[in-house]
Amino acid sequence: MTVKIGEPYYAGDLVVFFIDENEAVVTDYDCRYELRATDSTCECCTFRFRSRSNPNFACRHIEAVRRMQARMNEG
Ligand SMILES: [Zn+2]
Repeated sequence: MTVKIGEPYYAGDLVVFFIDENEAVVTDYDCRYELRATDSTCECCTFRFRSRSNPNFACRHIEAVRRMQARMNEG
């Protein structure tokens, strides 16, 4: 599968929509809550709290962005 910028993709129960190569809008399937996420940052509360004690913490939104970026780089 080729991942393109500007098209939505399912990543588990999340929908990932890349704005550009680095930043994506991640929508939770259930609550339809849109979050801006990159491969290292996210707007969600989980990331904001957990990243204080663990700078390497990756929430499921970040992990979804990383998975999709890996596919994007496959060509
Ligand atoms: Zn998040």
